[in-house]
Amino acid sequence: MEILERARLHEQLLELKLRHAEKIVDRLCEEGTQRSLSYTEVLGRLLDEEITHRRDRGADLRIKLAHFPFKKTLEQFDFGFQPGIDQRQVEELATLGFLKEAGNLLLLGPSGVGKTHLAVALGLKACLAGCSTYFISAHELGRRLLASLADDTLEDKLFSLSKHTLLIIDEMGYLPFEPRQATLLFQLVARRYERNSILVTSNKSFGQWAEVFAGDAAVASAILDRLLHHATVLNIRGPSYRLKDRSAAFGPALPLGSADRDPAAAGSLSPRPPLRTKGGKTIQA
Ligand code: ADP
Ligand code: MG
Repeated sequence: MEILERARLHEQLLELKLRHAEKIVDRLCEEGTQRSLSYTEVLGRLLDEEITHRRDRGADLRIKLAHFPFKKTLEQFDFGFQPGIDQRQVEELATLGFLKEAGNLLLLGPSGVGKTHLAVALGLKACLAGCSTYFISAHELGRRLLASLADDTLEDKLFSLSKHTLLIIDEMGYLPFEPRQATLLFQLVARRYERNSILVTSNKSFGQWAEVFAGDAAVASAILDRLLHHATVLNIRGPSYRLKDRSAAFGPALPLGSADRDPAAAGSLSPRPPLRTKGGKTIQA
């Protein structure tokens, strides 16, 4: 009788698509008998384990679909090496309140200061918290948008890039955009504006964004307007982590170009009016 009931239980769990529960139900029932647990306790544990398993699987899937270039966490970030970064501020960002408000985050600074590391770490937190996330380099984004224009799939591309709760655009400004790419990026930013968050990393000051967008100050300003309206800006001024061992052995790191050295030096993007920053915060690290 017990065997028949157990077989039926397996069928029912499978019909309800509780696949993990189906795999562990025998073990939990046996443990329940051995430890004289009540039915309620056994049932509670069974459902708890199914829920935990589903959450973990969902997070693993989101992390896979996010296409991070590497997996680095906040715990792996040495705040002692980069004292210019306010650790508490970053930990506050990691609670992901900005995603609920569709706020943006801009991480600015020269090469090697940990912008991509922090972007990935926050992206991982978002995935674990159930938010769909997508990581892409600015260069690849520009390439894909242009390709979608060529093969008439722009609408689909804009739709798929707009739906993620967090879009991480890495390395804005390392390579210039051509005019059509700049306009397409504007369309994407406009779609996500006040709906979903964008995290941008860049080695360029805001004043240099016109150069990034083929000298088009109007489109650069339009993009920045929307990005900065509800935004937190972290200006990271510090040494390169990549060069830390080299500088310990051979003295200070090689000097960088002025753009790299001081992305915080934001210039105005004439002839457009000043940037709106209402509701946003600018943090100078
Ligand atoms: P950026 O994007 O600013 O050029 P990255 O985030 O790619 O720099 O950092 C370069 C490398 O150094 C990565 O492997 C990253 O994990 C590591 N790194 C940078 N800053 C730190 C830090 N403060 N603590 C630990 N690792 C760091
Ligand atoms: Mg980087």
